[in-house]
Order: sequence, then C-alpha cells, then structure tokens
Amino acid sequence: MTRTIVIATRNRHKLRELRELMPELESVEMKTLDEFPGAPEVAEDGVTLEENAAKKAKSAALFCRLWALADDTGLEVDALGGAPGVYSARYAGGDCSCAANNLKLLAELSGLPPEKRTARFRCVMALASPGGSVITVEGRLEGRIALSPSGTGGFGYDPLFLPAGADKTLAELTPGEKNALSHRAAAVRKIEPYIARLRDEG
Ligand code: IMP
Repeated sequence: MTRTIVIATRNRHKLRELRELMPELESVEMKTLDEFPGAPEVAEDGVTLEENAAKKAKSAALFCRLWALADDTGLEVDALGGAPGVYSARYAGGDCSCAANNLKLLAELSGLPPEKRTARFRCVMALASPGGSVITVEGRLEGRIALSPSGTGGFGYDPLFLPAGADKTLAELTPGEKNALSHRAAAVRKIEPYIARLRDEG
C-alpha cells in the first residue's frame, strides 16, 4: 500500500536525509513542498521548537490535504540558559553563516572550562493530519561545546559539538556515524511508528 506524505520543506537535502533515516518506510511516497505550487511560506517565528515544527507541519497538511511532517532543531547550551535554542540558525544575525554562528558561540563561552560547556541538540518533529491535528516527538543528543572547531563534515554547529563520551566532534564523524547517534535519528525513531501506521491503514 502506498501512502503519500509531505515533508514540510523545500530542501531536497532534508528529504534525502529523512529517506536515509527511514529505510523501512520506502513504500511511503515523500514529497516536498516544491511539488505543491502556491504552498504558503511559513514564518519560523515561534518561541519554541515545538511551535515552529507544528506550525510548519499543519500549514503543509492543510494546504496539500495530506499528512505532513516537519522538524525544527536547536542547540541548547546550559551556560547560556538554553541559547541559541530556537534561534540557532540565526544566532549571529539575520542571514548569518554557520561559521559566524560558531564564532559567536565560542566567544560567548570564552574562558569556560570543558565541564561547564554542556549542551544538547534537540530535534522536534511534528506530524500533522490532513485535518490539521498535530503530534510532536523529540530526539536529543547530549554533549559539550569544544574549545575550538575540528572536522570538516556535517554542517551548522557540528565542528564544535562533542557528543557525550566521544573525543571527536560531529564534524569528524562519517555521515553514517553521525546518523547512528544524532538527535534527528532519535526523533525519526519516535515518529516512524506513526508513519508506519498510516501506511498500513492505507
Ligand atoms: P533546522 O531546524 O534543521 O533548520 O536547524 C536549525 C539550525 O540548527 C541550523 O541552521 C543549524 O545551525 C543547527 N543544526 C540543526 N541540526 C544540526 C546538526 O545536526 N548539526 C549541527 N547544527 C545543526
């Protein structure tokens, strides 16, 4: 039985990544918003990851009249009271680069010893029904912010993030190694049974 869901993004990279994280759901057809002309842009102006993920999923589901999946991720640094959190993408300003965000983070934590640099990635995934009801799940990856960047893989804050118990940053791991422990993979594992149920119910 094929079932179509919309991934509430225009980013093909995100679609490919989700596909890789959900190999068991290969019979579920996944489309991005690019395949739905006129789909509204959603401002990510919520004050929580949950709010943003739910808003994106609901908007896509209502417009496309299909089940829709959206995610929102943030890096929460304990010494900064949970910042940058929901503002992770634009920590250093409007259209800032990942490098600028990383530099700002290092500056904010300057002089702080390793044991006080605890942090986590939190990925919230929201699944919305065609009628607009939403469930959310979250995946976490605990770790610390390194004293300086290392590695060239991944994206975003990966060169500064040391997963708990590891001596390499996420940017020094292979994509497979990162996927095995990432916050996104953890969220996918929780949302997967709901999507499998949709597929099985036809
Ligand atoms: P998004 O909600 O997936 O677009 O993520 C928001 C921001 O969080 C991104 O722009 C990155 O700065 C950061 N981020 C999300 N996921 C990761 C990750 O896996 N590694 C490093 N940074 C990430």
